[in-house]
Amino acid sequence: MKNALYLFLLIICFNVNAQIQKVEPPFWWTGMKMSEIQVLVYGEDISNLQPKIDDSRIKLTSVDRVQNENYIFLNLEISKDAQPGWVEINFYKGKKRKYNYSYQLLKRNKNANLVKGFDNSDVMYLITPDRFANGDSENDELPEMKEKLGDGNNDRHGGDLQGIIDHLDYIKDLGFTSIWLNPALENNMERFSYHGYSTTDYYKIDPRFGNNKLFKELSYKASEKGIKIIMDVIPNHCGSEHWFFKDPPTQDWFNNQNNYKNTTHNREAVQDIHAAEIDKSEHHDGWFVETMPDLNQGNSFLSKYLIQNAIWWIEYATLAGLRVDTYPYADKDFMSDWTKAIMDEYPKFNIVGEEWTTNPAITSYWQRGKVNHDGYVSHLPSLMDFPLQSALTEALNDDFGWGKGFVKSYKALANDFLYADPFNLVVFPDNHDMTRFFTQINNDLDLFKMGIIYYSTIRGIPQFYYGTEILMDSNKNPGNHGLIRSNFPGGWPGDQVNAFTGSGLNKNQIETLRFFKKLLNWRKNNEVIHYGKLIQFAPKFAEEIYSYYRTYNDKKVWVIFNRVDKTQVIDLNHFEEVHNGFKSGYEVLQEKKIILNDKLEIKGKSAMIIELSK
Ligand code: CA
Repeated sequence: MKNALYLFLLIICFNVNAQIQKVEPPFWWTGMKMSEIQVLVYGEDISNLQPKIDDSRIKLTSVDRVQNENYIFLNLEISKDAQPGWVEINFYKGKKRKYNYSYQLLKRNKNANLVKGFDNSDVMYLITPDRFANGDSENDELPEMKEKLGDGNNDRHGGDLQGIIDHLDYIKDLGFTSIWLNPALENNMERFSYHGYSTTDYYKIDPRFGNNKLFKELSYKASEKGIKIIMDVIPNHCGSEHWFFKDPPTQDWFNNQNNYKNTTHNREAVQDIHAAEIDKSEHHDGWFVETMPDLNQGNSFLSKYLIQNAIWWIEYATLAGLRVDTYPYADKDFMSDWTKAIMDEYPKFNIVGEEWTTNPAITSYWQRGKVNHDGYVSHLPSLMDFPLQSALTEALNDDFGWGKGFVKSYKALANDFLYADPFNLVVFPDNHDMTRFFTQINNDLDLFKMGIIYYSTIRGIPQFYYGTEILMDSNKNPGNHGLIRSNFPGGWPGDQVNAFTGSGLNKNQIETLRFFKKLLNWRKNNEVIHYGKLIQFAPKFAEEIYSYYRTYNDKKVWVIFNRVDKTQVIDLNHFEEVHNGFKSGYEVLQEKKIILNDKLEIKGKSAMIIELSK
């Protein structure tokens, strides 16, 4: 009898909300700076109903109806002193209540607005969740998800959030303090969905990675170990299987909505003072690829939707940062509004944008505080430093002679005057879209280490891709993205090599793992590298010696590189302006004391990190 009653109630409840398929954001918080929100309600002919709220905690200030009658947008104002709980939204047809939805107001994380974003004290570990570790084989294939497992480079391999949670200690022991996770939102695409850049639901973690609760748990467990979580977000486009692409709210929800046109990738048109209008529009209105429709952020409903979505995830999972995909492809005025809204809500937060260019004039255009030629005001705190990445790889690989080698990275760094805040740039040797660093420098372990030392001690926030610490390469096919994002050894049951335990690693891999551990853990505890002033000395062309100092309060660290394959003797008098008074030092990697009289010997193809002492 009891069961029958329960079933009856279940049927009633089901019918009550049968028409409402989506409510986004699905809940909000009390005490947010953003207390006026827009709630998208999706359901058949929903716009023909009249929504009403009779509750002092939420005021329904207005209702917006759009071309598609399956959508209605409710503008809600949450009272400043509202207590958490459920607020009924009723939908009437005439005088008859047809449906209701209980909208939840959650209690806010007490200090959420003070959450500190990633900064110079951090080192980021970039993970492609499908490829790091399979912590739960039960979620590998799910009936509701279109793409199943496969063993090809571009197939799904089964990695998930549980796999990351299980190996947080490995990441922590290496000395990393933050994780940038490639996108983990639902990508219910037919194929090629493992990378996560084709969102099909903005409010749902892909069930093959876990669920929203598990994502929150990852953030919580990571923070307990001193690791911050950085979410990868894509305001520019979604996946062509997104439910709102199949039934768009308006005729202008997407650019080229009914007529796919690819972007030209002419990103320079954004800054070009001579640009033709068509080049600007073909760049930012074109689709990234055919399966990624281009969102029109000029639509005010969509703009608000995307801003709220980012804030929702930061609040929900207590994130410490966002990485923004394809930054210059979206509407730039929208990106300014989007970043401003986030930074207003979380003043200590950090957001890093991807602008893939080797031209620092273009990169610097997007950084907060930059005074631009066209008056564009950006609120984006950080950018990926692609110009420095390409300069350093060239510097390491170059042959010898005038204008070659370290002079390239020296000059790249000398461009820092272009940036409003060069210290808040993310520096990296590679990422999920690039040939792996070990391959970039032709599997030369000495040059590899010099590069890692550079990124770990130069200004900025270092980021390394998972597996760099065990020399993962992309030798067989440098351009193949699926191969760059190979499975991390040890992440799958039965793996012959297990990098988590060290079993099966070769000598060079073990040595590199130790090297990373020593370097990053040293960096972790040295404010001079986090916040120190940078002074670089021009390379000596003939000898290929390059060095810089980081200085902070009374601490000085000297980082020196020798690119030629023979020992060099350096005249210390040249460095008198910073060496003055310092007579000895401690070399961090070799762990030995060094006397600094007037000469220093440095081995061929090596780098030294010397903490100076008097
Ligand atoms: Ca799995």
